[in-house]
Amino acid sequence: MDTTKDFLKKYFDSLNFIVEGTDENAFAYSLAGKKAYFTGTPDKKYKLPPMTENYYTLSDLMSFWRIKGCRNEVPDPSSITNPDKVYVRDFDLLCEDGRVVPIRSYLKLLCGEDGKPSWIIGKYYDDYASNDIDSETELSTEKRLLDDLKVDISSGVSGALVIMGIDDMKSINTKYGRTFGTGILHFVASVLKKTESDSVNAYRLDGDKFALKTDNDKSKILSLHERINREIESQCTISAGVAFYAEGDDVGIVYQSAENAMDRAKFSGKANCEFYTEELLESEISSYTLREELRNSISNGFEGFYLNFQPQISGKNFEIIGAESLLRYTSPSRGFVGPDEFIPVIEQIGLIPQVGKWVLEQALTKCAYWRRYLPDIRISVNVSYLQLKEDDFVEQILGSLKKFGLPGNCLTLELTESIQLQNFNEYNKLFKIFEAEGIDIAIDDFGTGYSSLSYLKSIDIDEVKIDRCFIVNIQRSAYNYRLLNNTVDLAHSVQIRVCCEGVETEEELMTLMQAHPDVLQGYLFSKPLSEEAFENKYINSESEEYIRTVTQKKHYQELERQICVEDVGKIEKDILRAIVDNMEEMVYVCAGDDGYDMVYLNSAGCKKTGVYEYIGKKCYEVMMNRTSPCELCRSNIVSNGDMQMRKVYNQHLDMNCLLRERSIIWRGERAHLTFVNELKDENQD
Ligand code: C2E
Ligand code: CA
Ligand code: CA
Repeated sequence: MDTTKDFLKKYFDSLNFIVEGTDENAFAYSLAGKKAYFTGTPDKKYKLPPMTENYYTLSDLMSFWRIKGCRNEVPDPSSITNPDKVYVRDFDLLCEDGRVVPIRSYLKLLCGEDGKPSWIIGKYYDDYASNDIDSETELSTEKRLLDDLKVDISSGVSGALVIMGIDDMKSINTKYGRTFGTGILHFVASVLKKTESDSVNAYRLDGDKFALKTDNDKSKILSLHERINREIESQCTISAGVAFYAEGDDVGIVYQSAENAMDRAKFSGKANCEFYTEELLESEISSYTLREELRNSISNGFEGFYLNFQPQISGKNFEIIGAESLLRYTSPSRGFVGPDEFIPVIEQIGLIPQVGKWVLEQALTKCAYWRRYLPDIRISVNVSYLQLKEDDFVEQILGSLKKFGLPGNCLTLELTESIQLQNFNEYNKLFKIFEAEGIDIAIDDFGTGYSSLSYLKSIDIDEVKIDRCFIVNIQRSAYNYRLLNNTVDLAHSVQIRVCCEGVETEEELMTLMQAHPDVLQGYLFSKPLSEEAFENKYINSESEEYIRTVTQKKHYQELERQICVEDVGKIEKDILRAIVDNMEEMVYVCAGDDGYDMVYLNSAGCKKTGVYEYIGKKCYEVMMNRTSPCELCRSNIVSNGDMQMRKVYNQHLDMNCLLRERSIIWRGERAHLTFVNELKDENQD
């Protein structure tokens, strides 16, 4: 014991020497001896009972040492159990002059050579009440958080920093007033206070932000965040960003990372939790660079920006009727960047009105020039809803048209279907002015947003552009085809044009032509082109490209004629469908690459086979309940002209059948039509 004492004395003398003149105070508590040794003279400093030499016994401590805020509860050293952790504990000292001094301590458990806990060492501060506790919420402050993170990181403790922000705090304040907002802050703070434990510390940051410092356990953090949101859901939600830290990390970077992750979480909705990752860091840096480059380019006369033009083709005769202008950007550091990436950034930095104006003028310049050769050609310009909010938007458009001596009816403004357009009453006023000038409004990406078909009737527009996702492989999707058909019917009934976007294959074209869209656009006709390429394709009649385009046009016109022959006309087609669906005999059509895809089955067929969802199934699965084609089918070659007949016994349906078959064109593809009659009197043979 004596040697220990000697050792301690030396130890504390050195410690005293180091901490003298600083506000650091240190102590060591021997678990075996139940004695706490202190640097300096806390007994004099705080007016506590005098120390024996430089220590207090546990029972000395018990007389003035309390858990923070609890007059009767005495701290229990045996709650410090994990030697890998730094514990942050707040105490009160009951001084002899009646004061209560709040103390924050950082505690660490030391184990002896036998691995058993032997000492608790620590340091403590008494001035934290002023800087370290937020007077409004009684949570620890940001300063405290930074200090605590420093302690963790320098003592090799890893953990997680969770920064949280109340969602939509601004609109809560404007809607319900500041007092209500402050009430929400207090409420959230009280919920966070309750989450505090050995492994969770809560902090109030500036504004509507809070933080938790906890272990680096992803699933625990997620469930903690979920629990908090459940408790506050009656009042608000909170989004969180998480950054993990370990020995050697920079506190500033950890903090920034958690904050960036929180921004990301807020960006993707409410009550979200995002974890900071390397990829997030990279995308953060590259989006910062892109932002700066775009800013510079715009202020340097739109350096690096140019337009491409994608032809718009008539659905009636495949002639060119217009072009959509599509903005392109070459960044100094990355080269080509897609508009889906850079346009949202331009919107974010508030420069879309300038850029939009530039695009409009460039597009109109081209349109004016092309009109010398193609007198009716129109130009479509994409407009961000942020431009609509500009006070002088209408004047801008009309002014530019005038500048180039162009009539309103050469211009279509494409607006993306978005939640903003839901306030169509507001925009209808604007659209009325454009209508009077002959300027058309198109709703872009139709079908991907919030609207229903019925909203077509309530908004003054001239065109809808059906998004590519409804066009891709439309020959295989009965649902998309019906949707397109209905949209065209409804749009036409209120004099709205329909443009099909992103037509890539002849099969798609042949199918969608049966719905009679007005305008076609897509790689099948042309990718977006530079001005020169566009002129070579549609104006310069000497060029090879021009000749190729004329041949292509003739080819589609020929295909269209073939469909018209096959197609019985729209009304007759519906009647025919009704008849076929009411027939007692089964009728089905197979098509597809291998010729076995079930693409149509009439009602009688559905009833007999019990299969109502036949799209995506093979005819032998539906009709025969087999996994491969029947031998007969494989060897049977169906002729183009007359019906061919054969008798078969269908084991699955247990009936003798008379099959009548011929080949037909089904939505532009060769297909196989079969009528199935039951032969009731015949025996199986
Ligand atoms: P968007 O207005 O829907 O433009 C159509 C996009 O589909 C274009 O992409 C075009 O290249 C692409 N596309 C056309 N045909 C096909 C096809 O057959 N298959 C496939 N897979 N894609 C096809 P891009 O040029 O990348 O433009 C993306 C979006 O950027 C545009 O979508 C538009 O929303 C926006 N954008 C482009 N230029 C401007 C502009 O000047 N102002 C504004 N506000 N937005 C623009
Ligand atoms: Ca567009
Ligand atoms: Ca579109």
